[in-house]
Amino acid sequence: MNSPDSLLFPGSADAGATVCSAKGCRSAAVWVLAWNNPKLHTPQRRKTWLACDEHREHLSQFLGVRGFLKDVVTLAEWEKRAAADEPGAGDD
Ligand SMILES: [Zn+2]
Repeated sequence: MNSPDSLLFPGSADAGATVCSAKGCRSAAVWVLAWNNPKLHTPQRRKTWLACDEHREHLSQFLGVRGFLKDVVTLAEWEKRAAADEPGAGDD
């Protein structure tokens, strides 16, 4: 099944699919960089890049100097937030 979303968020929750977004890097991603380009996106929209430890700062700076960077969280935290957004997720 190909969904357009897979292009926007290449690292899905599937195990092994979360690879750093840095060019040429195939390291496992540890960080999620959430960003928004106000010239292209509505304010609520969040694009995401994945980063390994080595590239987190580089990618953050790339987005930060342009004023695009909104949030940097660990992949675990990002997935926890996504899960928390699911209706019906109980307290645990
Ligand atoms: Zn990397």
